[in-house]
Amino acid sequence: MRDKGLLIVISGPSGVGKGTVIKRFIEDPDLKLAFSVSMTTREKREGEVEGVNYYYVTREEFEKTIKEGGLLEWTEFVGNYYGTPLAAVEKLRSEGKNVLLEIEVDGCQQVKKKVPDALTIFIVPPSIKELENRIRGRKTEAEEIVQQRLAKAEKELEKTNQYRYVVCNDDVDLAADIIRVIIRHHMEKEF
Ligand code: 5GP
Repeated sequence: MRDKGLLIVISGPSGVGKGTVIKRFIEDPDLKLAFSVSMTTREKREGEVEGVNYYYVTREEFEKTIKEGGLLEWTEFVGNYYGTPLAAVEKLRSEGKNVLLEIEVDGCQQVKKKVPDALTIFIVPPSIKELENRIRGRKTEAEEIVQQRLAKAEKELEKTNQYRYVVCNDDVDLAADIIRVIIRHHMEKEF
């Protein structure tokens, strides 16, 4: 038996629908999942909730947490800081929960260095055009930010080979089912 829960990293370009896919399986009791709530300096979007989607902090607070060694990983993404609080992840894993991080590519690289057996999954869109439609459809960002997010997405899509699994989000239910199977497989596997 494993003595702590899995560390699962899910990445994918902005707008690929990571959140929607994750919602389909996060509550599945068989998967024993806990979502790691990140810290960010970006503005809260409509409908987002403090402590559920993110902990919204100032740049000063974020930099203080970095200095104190309080983050498992962190990055600056399109002008804002994002990071994973270390203590919460450790606590949940020690309770036997499989902890899910929804983070971008640089963060995943840092996690792999610290936790080499992390289970890494990258979600890809059916096409770049479809990704653009989804980002614009969200109507939450100014044109300049949309452009920056698309440029970042194209860069991220070149790095999918750093991930153990790549899953296409063409159909949300199917993508969620594939990820469920991957997690179940790793839960049963002895290292
Ligand atoms: P958004 O602003 O759309 O919520 O997130 C922007 C990007 O930051 C997404 O690719 C998301 O996966 C990533 N992200 C969210 N939280 C973290 C984190 O704690 N660390 C890292 N490295 N990336 C994160």
